[in-house]
Amino acid sequence: MIVHNVELVISAVRPEQYPEDGLPEFALAGRSNVGKSSFINKMIGRKSMARISSKPGKTQTLNFYKIEEKLFYVDVPGYGYAKVSKSEREAWGKMIERYITGREELKAVIQIVDLRHPPSRDDVNMYDFMKHYDIPCIIIATKADKIPKGKWDKHKKIVRETLDMDKNDPLIVFSSETGLGKDAAWAEIEKRM
Ligand code: GDP
Repeated sequence: MIVHNVELVISAVRPEQYPEDGLPEFALAGRSNVGKSSFINKMIGRKSMARISSKPGKTQTLNFYKIEEKLFYVDVPGYGYAKVSKSEREAWGKMIERYITGREELKAVIQIVDLRHPPSRDDVNMYDFMKHYDIPCIIIATKADKIPKGKWDKHKKIVRETLDMDKNDPLIVFSSETGLGKDAAWAEIEKRM
Protein backbone atom coordinates (compact mmCIF):
# COMPACT_ATOMS: atom_id res chain seq x y z
CA MET A 1 0.00 0.00 0.00
CA ILE A 2 1.27 3.46 -0.82
CA VAL A 3 0.38 5.79 2.02
CA HIS A 4 -0.36 9.47 1.51
CA ASN A 5 -2.52 10.19 4.53
CA VAL A 6 -1.79 9.47 8.15
CA GLU A 7 -3.75 11.08 10.92
CA LEU A 8 -3.48 10.61 14.67
CA VAL A 9 -7.19 10.45 15.42
CA ILE A 10 -7.09 9.87 19.16
CA SER A 11 -4.91 8.90 22.07
CA ALA A 12 -7.37 6.80 24.01
CA VAL A 13 -7.32 5.57 27.57
CA ARG A 14 -10.90 4.35 27.80
CA PRO A 15 -13.04 2.28 25.41
CA GLU A 16 -15.55 5.16 25.00
CA GLN A 17 -12.76 7.05 23.26
CA TYR A 18 -12.00 4.42 20.62
CA PRO A 19 -12.90 5.54 17.07
CA GLU A 20 -16.28 4.54 15.74
CA ASP A 21 -15.45 4.39 12.03
CA GLY A 22 -15.56 0.60 11.99
CA LEU A 23 -12.29 0.44 10.01
CA PRO A 24 -10.05 -2.61 10.54
CA GLU A 25 -7.44 -2.14 13.26
CA PHE A 26 -3.92 -3.52 13.62
CA ALA A 27 -2.30 -3.12 17.00
CA LEU A 28 1.47 -2.75 17.25
CA ALA A 29 3.21 -4.23 20.23
CA GLY A 30 6.84 -4.58 21.17
CA ARG A 31 9.23 -4.01 24.00
CA SER A 32 10.62 -0.50 24.41
CA ASN A 33 13.42 0.26 21.93
CA VAL A 34 12.85 -2.83 19.77
CA GLY A 35 12.23 -0.66 16.69
CA LYS A 36 8.46 -0.22 16.74
CA SER A 37 8.39 3.42 15.60
CA SER A 38 10.98 2.72 12.92
CA PHE A 39 8.75 -0.11 11.69
CA ILE A 40 5.65 2.10 11.48
CA ASN A 41 7.57 4.88 9.77
CA LYS A 42 9.01 2.48 7.20
CA MET A 43 5.57 0.99 6.53
CA ILE A 44 4.00 4.39 5.88
CA GLY A 45 7.04 5.86 4.16
CA ARG A 46 7.66 8.68 6.62
CA LYS A 47 10.83 9.88 8.28
CA SER A 48 8.97 10.40 11.52
CA MET A 49 5.31 10.21 12.25
CA ALA A 50 3.69 12.58 14.70
CA ARG A 51 3.92 10.62 17.90
CA ILE A 52 2.61 11.13 21.37
CA SER A 53 5.44 10.57 23.78
CA SER A 54 4.75 7.43 25.72
CA LYS A 55 7.70 7.72 28.06
CA PRO A 56 7.58 5.19 30.86
CA GLY A 57 5.88 6.73 33.85
CA LYS A 58 3.80 9.12 31.73
CA THR A 59 0.14 8.49 31.05
CA GLN A 60 -0.01 5.56 28.70
CA THR A 61 -2.44 5.66 25.83
CA LEU A 62 -3.50 3.68 22.79
CA ASN A 63 -2.75 5.89 19.82
CA PHE A 64 -5.04 5.38 16.83
CA TYR A 65 -3.45 6.34 13.53
CA LYS A 66 -5.79 6.37 10.57
CA ILE A 67 -4.05 5.27 7.37
CA GLU A 68 -5.57 6.27 4.02
CA GLU A 69 -9.13 6.14 5.45
CA LYS A 70 -8.70 2.35 5.19
CA LEU A 71 -7.28 1.08 8.46
CA PHE A 72 -5.94 2.06 11.85
CA TYR A 73 -2.55 1.34 13.30
CA VAL A 74 -3.03 1.23 17.04
CA ASP A 75 0.23 1.98 18.78
CA VAL A 76 0.41 0.19 22.10
CA PRO A 77 2.91 1.53 24.67
CA GLY A 78 6.14 -0.52 24.71
CA TYR A 79 6.47 -3.17 27.37
CA GLY A 80 9.38 -4.55 29.33
CA TYR A 81 10.78 -1.26 30.57
CA ALA A 82 12.54 -2.19 33.81
CA LYS A 83 11.83 1.02 35.70
CA VAL A 84 8.05 0.81 35.44
CA SER A 85 6.32 0.28 38.78
CA LYS A 86 4.03 -2.63 39.55
CA SER A 87 0.93 -0.41 39.51
CA GLU A 88 1.90 1.08 36.14
CA ARG A 89 2.46 -2.38 34.78
CA GLU A 90 -0.98 -3.43 35.99
CA ALA A 91 -2.65 -0.35 34.51
CA TRP A 92 -0.94 -1.14 31.21
CA GLY A 93 -2.15 -4.74 31.33
CA LYS A 94 -5.72 -3.68 32.05
CA MET A 95 -5.76 -1.15 29.23
CA ILE A 96 -4.49 -3.69 26.69
CA GLU A 97 -6.80 -6.39 27.96
CA ARG A 98 -9.82 -4.12 27.72
CA TYR A 99 -8.87 -3.20 24.18
CA ILE A 100 -8.16 -6.66 22.80
CA THR A 101 -11.08 -8.46 24.41
CA GLY A 102 -14.15 -7.89 22.35
CA ARG A 103 -12.77 -5.21 20.02
CA GLU A 104 -14.33 -6.44 16.83
CA GLU A 105 -12.31 -4.09 14.62
CA LEU A 106 -9.03 -5.62 15.81
CA LYS A 107 -7.88 -7.90 12.99
CA ALA A 108 -4.41 -8.80 14.22
CA VAL A 109 -1.66 -7.79 16.56
CA ILE A 110 1.65 -7.00 14.93
CA GLN A 111 4.29 -7.95 17.46
CA ILE A 112 7.80 -6.67 16.85
CA VAL A 113 10.79 -8.66 18.08
CA ASP A 114 14.54 -8.33 17.47
CA LEU A 115 15.79 -10.95 15.00
CA ARG A 116 19.25 -10.85 16.56
CA HIS A 117 18.24 -12.18 19.96
CA PRO A 118 15.90 -14.87 21.27
CA PRO A 119 12.59 -13.28 22.31
CA SER A 120 12.67 -12.04 25.92
CA ARG A 121 10.45 -13.26 28.73
CA ASP A 122 8.29 -10.14 28.14
CA ASP A 123 8.00 -10.96 24.43
CA VAL A 124 6.87 -14.48 25.30
CA ASN A 125 4.34 -13.17 27.84
CA MET A 126 2.93 -10.71 25.32
CA TYR A 127 2.53 -13.41 22.68
CA ASP A 128 0.91 -15.79 25.21
CA PHE A 129 -1.44 -13.01 26.26
CA MET A 130 -2.64 -12.55 22.65
CA LYS A 131 -3.00 -16.27 22.09
CA HIS A 132 -4.98 -16.60 25.31
CA TYR A 133 -7.59 -14.34 23.71
CA ASP A 134 -7.26 -16.03 20.32
CA ILE A 135 -5.97 -12.93 18.55
CA PRO A 136 -4.18 -13.56 15.24
CA CYS A 137 -0.59 -12.31 15.39
CA ILE A 138 1.87 -11.18 12.75
CA ILE A 139 5.39 -11.43 14.13
CA ILE A 140 7.92 -9.00 12.71
CA ALA A 141 11.57 -9.85 13.41
CA THR A 142 13.32 -6.57 12.80
CA LYS A 143 16.92 -5.28 12.61
CA ALA A 144 17.73 -8.06 10.11
CA ASP A 145 20.31 -5.78 8.50
CA LYS A 146 22.41 -6.18 11.64
CA ILE A 147 23.10 -9.88 11.08
CA PRO A 148 24.35 -11.72 7.99
CA LYS A 149 21.71 -13.08 5.66
CA GLY A 150 23.09 -16.60 6.10
CA LYS A 151 21.98 -16.54 9.74
CA TRP A 152 18.40 -15.38 9.21
CA ASP A 153 16.88 -18.87 9.00
CA LYS A 154 18.57 -20.02 12.17
CA HIS A 155 17.39 -16.90 14.03
CA LYS A 156 13.87 -17.25 12.64
CA LYS A 157 13.73 -20.76 13.99
CA ILE A 158 14.79 -19.54 17.44
CA VAL A 159 12.05 -16.88 17.38
CA ARG A 160 9.40 -19.42 16.36
CA GLU A 161 10.49 -21.91 18.98
CA THR A 162 10.95 -19.45 21.84
CA LEU A 163 7.52 -17.90 21.29
CA ASP A 164 6.09 -21.35 20.63
CA MET A 165 4.37 -19.76 17.67
CA ASP A 166 1.10 -20.90 16.21
CA LYS A 167 1.86 -22.41 12.78
CA ASN A 168 -0.72 -20.11 11.19
CA ASP A 169 0.93 -16.92 12.46
CA PRO A 170 3.38 -15.45 9.95
CA LEU A 171 6.93 -14.49 10.89
CA ILE A 172 8.44 -11.80 8.70
CA VAL A 173 12.11 -10.85 8.61
CA PHE A 174 12.26 -7.07 8.50
CA SER A 175 14.65 -4.13 8.36
CA SER A 176 13.68 -0.51 8.83
CA GLU A 177 17.05 0.40 7.37
CA THR A 178 16.69 -1.40 4.04
CA GLY A 179 12.91 -1.84 3.75
CA LEU A 180 13.29 -5.63 3.68
CA GLY A 181 9.97 -7.30 4.53
CA LYS A 182 7.85 -4.20 3.94
CA ASP A 183 5.84 -5.68 1.07
CA ALA A 184 5.41 -8.99 2.90
CA ALA A 185 4.15 -7.16 6.00
CA TRP A 186 1.66 -5.11 3.96
CA ALA A 187 0.48 -8.29 2.21
CA GLU A 188 -0.28 -9.91 5.59
CA ILE A 189 -2.16 -6.80 6.74
CA GLU A 190 -4.16 -6.40 3.53
CA LYS A 191 -5.12 -10.06 3.61
CA ARG A 192 -6.84 -9.45 6.96
CA MET A 193 -8.62 -6.19 6.16
P1 GDP B 1 10.84 1.85 19.67
O1 GDP B 1 11.18 2.33 21.05
O2 GDP B 1 10.43 0.42 19.69
O3 GDP B 1 9.84 2.71 18.96
O4 GDP B 1 12.23 1.86 18.85
P2 GDP B 1 12.79 2.83 17.69
O5 GDP B 1 12.04 2.67 16.43
O6 GDP B 1 12.90 4.20 18.24
O7 GDP B 1 14.24 2.18 17.46
C1 GDP B 1 15.20 2.01 18.49
C2 GDP B 1 16.61 2.09 17.89
O8 GDP B 1 16.82 1.00 17.00
C3 GDP B 1 16.85 3.35 17.06
O9 GDP B 1 18.18 3.76 17.27
C4 GDP B 1 16.65 2.88 15.63
O10 GDP B 1 17.37 3.64 14.70
C5 GDP B 1 17.16 1.45 15.69
N1 GDP B 1 16.49 0.59 14.70
C6 GDP B 1 15.16 0.34 14.62
N2 GDP B 1 14.88 -0.52 13.61
C7 GDP B 1 16.07 -0.82 13.03
C8 GDP B 1 16.47 -1.67 11.92
O11 GDP B 1 15.65 -2.34 11.26
N3 GDP B 1 17.81 -1.73 11.64
C9 GDP B 1 18.74 -1.03 12.35
N4 GDP B 1 20.02 -1.16 12.00
N5 GDP B 1 18.41 -0.22 13.38
C10 GDP B 1 17.10 -0.12 13.72
